[in-house]
Amino acid sequence: MVGHWVKLRTQRCDYFQLLDGDPMRYRTLAPLIVGVLAIVPAQLSAQQASDYQAAVDAERLVNATAEASDWLSYGRTYDEQRYSPLSQINKDNLERLSLAWFADMTTSRGQEATPIVVDGAVYVSTAWSLVWAFDVRSGELLWQYDPEVDRAKGFQACCDVVNRGVAVWEGKVFVGALDGRLIALDSQTGEVLWETMTVDPDRPYTITGAPRVVKGNVIIGNGGAEYGVRGYVTAYDAASGEQNWRFYTVPGNPTEAFEQPELFDAASTWTGQWWTLGGGGTVWDAMAYDAELDLLYIGVGNGSPWNQSLRSPDGGDNLFLTSIVALDPDDGSYRWHYQTVPGETWDYTATQHIMLADLEIDGVERRVVMQAPKNGFFYVIDAATGQLISANNYVPVNWATHIDLDSGRPVENPDARYDLTGIPFVVSPSALGGHNWYPMSYSQNSGLVYIPITENYMGYVHDNEFVINQRGWNTGVDLAQGFGLARSTPGLPEQGTFLQAWDPVRQEEAWRVKHEAANGPAGVLSTAAGLVFQGNRAGEFVAYDDMTGERLWSAFTQAGVMAAPSTFMAGDEQHIALLVGSPALPSEGPGAAAATTLASTNNSRLLLFKLGGEAQLPRVPVQTENDVEFDIPQTDAANEIIAAGESAYNRTCAVCHGDAGISLRPDTYPDLRRSARMVTAESWAAVVLEGELEDNGMVSFAQLLEDGEAEAIRAYVITRANSEADSR
Ligand code: CA
Repeated sequence: MVGHWVKLRTQRCDYFQLLDGDPMRYRTLAPLIVGVLAIVPAQLSAQQASDYQAAVDAERLVNATAEASDWLSYGRTYDEQRYSPLSQINKDNLERLSLAWFADMTTSRGQEATPIVVDGAVYVSTAWSLVWAFDVRSGELLWQYDPEVDRAKGFQACCDVVNRGVAVWEGKVFVGALDGRLIALDSQTGEVLWETMTVDPDRPYTITGAPRVVKGNVIIGNGGAEYGVRGYVTAYDAASGEQNWRFYTVPGNPTEAFEQPELFDAASTWTGQWWTLGGGGTVWDAMAYDAELDLLYIGVGNGSPWNQSLRSPDGGDNLFLTSIVALDPDDGSYRWHYQTVPGETWDYTATQHIMLADLEIDGVERRVVMQAPKNGFFYVIDAATGQLISANNYVPVNWATHIDLDSGRPVENPDARYDLTGIPFVVSPSALGGHNWYPMSYSQNSGLVYIPITENYMGYVHDNEFVINQRGWNTGVDLAQGFGLARSTPGLPEQGTFLQAWDPVRQEEAWRVKHEAANGPAGVLSTAAGLVFQGNRAGEFVAYDDMTGERLWSAFTQAGVMAAPSTFMAGDEQHIALLVGSPALPSEGPGAAAATTLASTNNSRLLLFKLGGEAQLPRVPVQTENDVEFDIPQTDAANEIIAAGESAYNRTCAVCHGDAGISLRPDTYPDLRRSARMVTAESWAAVVLEGELEDNGMVSFAQLLEDGEAEAIRAYVITRANSEADSR
């Protein structure tokens, strides 16, 4: 049966072999045949095998739109729409959608990867850049690969030690490791075929994004713009690992030769000695490719440091920060750019999901690039030229009033420039963005873009103690004072997380769904069956009606969800795969009961759903640093010591462990008010100064703390733990 089915999809003349002359089978299978023919057009050229060969080439990727049975690349197709033509799972049978199989992951940090499915295997990466391969039908583990990233590297990962996925090409699986290596694995065995270091290992670069493969080049960027690096994207030969080209997103020292001709012009948009600070502009996530225009699009990140008055003191646009840049995929040469935020100063990256589509605008069919970057505006841009077609805000925005369509530039609110006025300001959206890395989806069924959004704000305060080349987080923004400003400013709107349906032609919202758990969104998938799938932080996987947002189905995931689902055929059954696991389930909402019974709130797993699946999730508690029972001690430290501890905490700890000691992500960053480590100075110092939990990413802070500061922080944390009002 399985073998015949494979034949059916590869050789259309073989349909009737499937029937074997058995009229009963014909009756059973006839509706399926019609269904499959409807979704697999004649141009299908690929081998549909179950041999784990990952036989992906240029033709197969360019034609991926037609090959709905696999999920060949990060955004499914080069246009990155994350829309599937499959409709076996539909509104009529959705109630039967349930778990087919699952696999436990061995890391319990944030999980952000989209599962890739090709030639019978599913490939998924997890936190710490591990890669797993499973047989897509049985769930049998084929192989697992651990690049053994030095856990101390976690200190340089702004936003957890995550990985958003792998790429496949001609029998190889590519993963970007957190420490900057690009690694090629054999798709059948997991054996390392080549690896190359894509960054200067002495600089605080990281990789969390998924590689893309275009015309035999594996394209990979990096992160680190909170730590003082210079951004670039590099192409490596997929077969050999040799570097083919590199495109820098910010100019280097003008007294040295520029690597690319356009950096001469870019340098005229910078002032001061930006190159001593790195400049930022990291390409840490989004890319897309248009085969017809032969253009590779990359999303460029924020300035480093964030605060422009420290980075480029006499202003300037600071190209190519926070831009979409179109490159020639063969040699990396520049074609065009569109900059979303000239003179960026709020961590407003344009690294968010870049998506290509054909839209009818004012009666004319246009090939467009769409993006909803952090800054709160939804952009529609001409894919061939970079000309801005339209822009409107998709969340509340107060840093600019609108985007001027003639110049393509934002009309800024001058009060928002805390870096120039020197006056702190509460800005919307926050540095987390109205939309962050969470993949969107464009449905060809509804014509809507589904965006995982957050309405938020943040206080920006100039950091008077900024030091160049500090080893750690170094943005020129005093976050602790910013937190305080946001707390003490009256009348700020409610913050919240939503699934938003956006009409990209009318540039207006069609509908939205509010998530009960407001601690972050999750990636999206849409299908031809009129369904939109999204997980949430309350521990659910939900299907919505694509036209109305009506909630049609849900399954409990036992874990918060951040990653986006993928969908494909395994045998003759449509499946949906979802990697679950996020820093925390909330204490309220549907996940709360599980959070108490499971003890842990991060049950990282790969879940596969199909119609009539019969698998059940077990309930196995896992210990975390916050699960140790202890009596909160008292401190006899003087008030000035506690105040010094608070100051050192704000400078060194708060960015991860939370403002005022309240961790918003306690699974990843333990809530220190509940940490038994505070009981003795020795157990505290073992972590803070001696790096006992380095394997978790909590490296020694001995280099960043003055004598006595670790103990002062302990005194402060003890006072916070004893403060009934905020304890939970
Ligand atoms: Ca950033």
